[in-house]
Formats: sequence, structure tokens, C-alpha cells
Amino acid sequence: MSPSFQNPVLEVRGLKMHFRTPKGVVKAVDGVDFTIAAGETLGLVGESGCGKSTTARGITRLITPTAGTVILEGREVTGMSTADLRATRQRMQMVFQDPYASLDPRMTVLDIIAEPIRNFRIARGQEVRERVRNLLQTVGLDADFEKRYPHEFSGGQRQRIGVARALAVEPILLLADEPVSALDVSIQAQVVNLFEDLQEQFGLAYLFISHDLSVVRHVSDRIAVMYLGRIVEIAPAQRLYAEPLHPYTEALLSAVPIPDPVIETKRKRIMLSGDVPSPVDEIQGCPFRTRCAQAFERCEVEAPVLKEYRPGHSASCHLHED
Ligand code: SF4
Repeated sequence: MSPSFQNPVLEVRGLKMHFRTPKGVVKAVDGVDFTIAAGETLGLVGESGCGKSTTARGITRLITPTAGTVILEGREVTGMSTADLRATRQRMQMVFQDPYASLDPRMTVLDIIAEPIRNFRIARGQEVRERVRNLLQTVGLDADFEKRYPHEFSGGQRQRIGVARALAVEPILLLADEPVSALDVSIQAQVVNLFEDLQEQFGLAYLFISHDLSVVRHVSDRIAVMYLGRIVEIAPAQRLYAEPLHPYTEALLSAVPIPDPVIETKRKRIMLSGDVPSPVDEIQGCPFRTRCAQAFERCEVEAPVLKEYRPGHSASCHLHED
């Protein structure tokens, strides 16, 4: 993985995803900014319900954003016509958590992978089948699996089929939403390795979403931590693990097992207590203050803003302000 990336493939600016409910407006995503460069992986982590998946759905416009700008390869996705959006979606593809739910059980693998190739008119006739067979091999499966149905495969193999389908339209960006969470731990590393191999082979950029910091550790160049719809820390991966700035990141990291048995026995888990504020309530002060062991007076009245404290390393926490 290269330490320096330029030329953003994706720019997300001020993304908001608000939803009207009978109880009020849920601010699932509330002003998110980041970029992803060609060939780069941005890990997006946080607890369930923090807005990670909704962010990905807003970027691809599977759900229309309330506000903000999404730019893919220099073209603004937000506000695009339906026809332009369709063409742009060829360049960004989603890979979902549950490979079984995302593959039509009545279709053969050939038809599953061929469908987007035909829809986007990437190939015709016999060439479609050749492409499918090549794609199966690219993701580490036997080309003859083309005749089989999804139920004939293991979870890891089904996720490989999902990845092959996403690759079929020659994207530049994959938005992988918890792509290994439904898999056995023993299979997770194999699928993560597949993502890394494909990135090297095709120069893909990834938004790699996970609730688990140990999963994104090896695959990410940078990591963004989300809490209650906002990014609270973003940094190069190694720096985030070595010197986290935000108490929430520290708590998430304390749950990650350390491979060294000596250090692992000394690992102290930070257990978060206190209630998570309702996303429909107007939050005064720092959104994390109800669970933060380091909260002080200022945290109750003033919301911290995301500031860069070291090159490429930003956090929103009053502890680091003068
Ligand atoms: Fe904790 Fe205060 Fe920092 Fe928020 S601003 S994370 S409450 S110390």
C-alpha cells in the first residue's frame, strides 16, 4: 500500500442523510466529508447504527442525500440525471454483507455475473460467457462453477461471486459494506486478501465498511471513525492504531485483540457505559459526552469540530485543543 495518494476518485462534502419519522427527524448522517484516491482504501468504522452503511447508500444514491456533494472522477453525482447516474454507477459498485441475500437463488452463476455485463453493454454473445469465466478465475473460483446456483456454495465462495459481479462492469471504486462480517473468522482473512489482490491488479479504490477495527486494520490505508452520523477521527491507519486522539477510537481499539501474547495479557478493555443519545434529539455539546470517561464541563455546552492535529490526522475532541 502506498503511503501517498493523490487525485481523489471520490470526494464527499457535507453529506447529510436525514429521515422523517413519527418521532422526529433522524439524522443518520450529519455532515460527512472525506476523499478516496485511486488505489486507496478508506476504512469506515463505528458501531452498528452510526451511519456507515447509510453513507455508502448516499454516495451511490441508492438513497437520495438530504444535502451535500458527491463527486466521482470529477463528476458530481448528486444532482445528476437518472441516465447519467446509471452510467456513473458502472464506475462505483457495492459489495454487500450477506452474499446469499444479494445473489438471486434462481439464477446460475453465469447469469448472475452476466447480468450487469449485458445491462451496461460491456460485451455481447459468446464474449459475455468468456468474461464470466475469466472473472470467476480472477476471484479464485473454478470457471466451471458458472453452471451452478448460489445455494451450492459456501459463504466465502458466495462473497467471491458477489465480488465477481461487482467487478464485471469494470468499476474504479468498490463500496464494500461489512463484506466479511457474515463469514467464519477462518474465511474472513481469505476474502480480505482477495480484496487486496484485486486492488493491486486493477488499481481499485475501496470504501471498506466494518464495525470491527481488527478487520479493517490490514486492508486500510486510512481509517475514518464514525459516531452518531459524524466522523470523529480520521487518520492514516498505522497512526490511528498507534496514537488515537478520540476517546471513542480508544475504546474501539481496546476491544481489538493483539497478536503478541505478552502484550495481549496486558490489554485493558475500555467498556463504554452511558446511553447513546437518540438521533432524533437535538444534541447539546459533544455527542459522545454521555459515554466519555474524559468529559469535562466544556463538553456539555460546546460541540467539538473536526480539526487536523497532525498531518492527515484529524479528530473532534476538546482534549486536544489549546
Ligand atoms: Fe470526550 Fe469531551 Fe472529547 Fe467529547 S470533547 S470526546 S466528551 S473529552
